[in-house]
Amino acid sequence: MPRLPLDQLSFSNRFTDELPGDADTRAVPRQVTGAAYSRVAPSAVSAPALLAHSPEVAEMIGLPPELWPDDDAATADFAQVFAGNRLPAGAGPYAMAYGGHQFGNWAGQLGDGRAIALGEIVAPSGEHLTLQLKGSGLTPYSRGADGLAVLRSSIREFLCSEAMHHLGVPTTRALSLVLTGDKVVRDMFYDGNPKPELGAVVCRVAPSFIRFGNFQLPASRGDLGLLRQLVEFTIRRHFPELLDGTLRSTTDHLPPSVVAAWYEAAVRRTAHLMVEWNRIGFVHGVMNTDNLSILGLTIDYGPYGWLDDFDPDWTPNTTDFGQRRYRFGQQGLVAHWNLAQLGSALAPLLTDVEPLQTALDVYPALYRSGTEAMLSAKLGLPVPSADVAVDLVDRDLQTELWRALTLAETDYTIFFRRLADLPAELEGPAARRAVLADAFYRPEQLDTDTAAQMDNWLVAYQQRLQDLAVDDTERRLAMHRVNPKYVLRNYLSQLAIDAAESGDPSMITELLDVLRHPYDDQPDHDAWATKRPDWARSRPGCSTLSCSS
Ligand code: AMP
Ligand code: MG
Repeated sequence: MPRLPLDQLSFSNRFTDELPGDADTRAVPRQVTGAAYSRVAPSAVSAPALLAHSPEVAEMIGLPPELWPDDDAATADFAQVFAGNRLPAGAGPYAMAYGGHQFGNWAGQLGDGRAIALGEIVAPSGEHLTLQLKGSGLTPYSRGADGLAVLRSSIREFLCSEAMHHLGVPTTRALSLVLTGDKVVRDMFYDGNPKPELGAVVCRVAPSFIRFGNFQLPASRGDLGLLRQLVEFTIRRHFPELLDGTLRSTTDHLPPSVVAAWYEAAVRRTAHLMVEWNRIGFVHGVMNTDNLSILGLTIDYGPYGWLDDFDPDWTPNTTDFGQRRYRFGQQGLVAHWNLAQLGSALAPLLTDVEPLQTALDVYPALYRSGTEAMLSAKLGLPVPSADVAVDLVDRDLQTELWRALTLAETDYTIFFRRLADLPAELEGPAARRAVLADAFYRPEQLDTDTAAQMDNWLVAYQQRLQDLAVDDTERRLAMHRVNPKYVLRNYLSQLAIDAAESGDPSMITELLDVLRHPYDDQPDHDAWATKRPDWARSRPGCSTLSCSS
């Protein structure tokens, strides 16, 4: 019998081969000490059905269309494997142990409560990629929960992972979305009305799913041996550029200087990620330290959201409405705080913690200069090179813009797309306002004073363009490369969810197709680049979400 395509994936499970595992193999919730992971198999599901997949990710892991024929048998096997019913040859499933600070408080052991990695494959590119099933049953880290995921949150994770990638933002990827055929009970509004919902599994793909919390957990227990092993594994396997030839060819412990350099690399990647989230108007929603990737990837798509109207205080996460810790305008600060927690976890490995402090102190300036460069690019103005301060005129323009955007409800995405169309020489407040009209949710908010303030900013912007002799056509093209036309607006996901829940999953793939080219004009899909419609303003799922998933 010929080998099934999925048995031809080339597994090489470095995380489990090289790090200590849990001796206990029962999938019973418990504290796991002295181990980086626990071996656990995905739970069987009753009727796996493939709803959507990402062809790019399939190709990336070594499943090009030639290997994965478009026939029923291949599709059925794909659904079986990525629902967790059949382990492909070479797989070695496991759940990771990690801890974390949740909403600012140390929460102890968390871990993969409903994510089970199948193992790592060696991609055709030579890169190691972990395939991880989310929603495939109980693990030792499930605490009181069921280890499962519902369709609505799985659609959101599947689509957003891929949308982020196509926007050029570091992220874990999504290979597939499979319906399990089983029901999962959820109390979506936490109001005492649990209901059965459709269960689903997403296969996520990333070079690693290691989070800040993986290091925090052994550090919190004083298990410095495990902490060092995890750190050295992460550096050797995921940051080899930090090792010189001698260190690469030995298995000796890494010197403190390399640990500090690695920490600084994590600081830099995280700062870059925060700037990128701000560029596109993404709010993660649950930036607990267990949800921050050591590789600087966007990870764990839960109650995230996209800004429709610009509001630095906005968070989609209803669980966070009290303190709004994870609001849009605070993500950069929170990441700094989270990095400080990571640094504290690493400190016991170094006799002198000064280098860690120095690395952490890189963050504020990096975040500020990154934000300024990002905003300059969004405005089509010259972008200062790394670590160089932006021109003071541009800094003022940026500060004023942040204020101007809050004057009236202004769509963040549409504003920058339309601004690209504003000729530098266009005269008259009415003409200028007409170019931007689409971006305003409530034109009646643009009373005389507000309209004048907004126009003052536009005039200052035009003046700057004229002073720098920026060419309108080139600026428009440059702005379109950094200001997406299509983002995964919350209400668009919700429409895809509503349709899929009533049996028609086609919008998932249609949305994915459009989001594959987020910076391009796609005239057939203009409807998906418009403002959030009024009906979606306060509908759950379209503007706010609970953690129930
Ligand atoms: P989150 O903040 O959603 O990333 O999850 C926090 C912790 O809760 C992680 O350890 C998750 O694995 C765990 N968790 C979330 N939902 C479930 C579930 N349905 N079953 C088991 N564990 C879960
Ligand atoms: Mg998480």
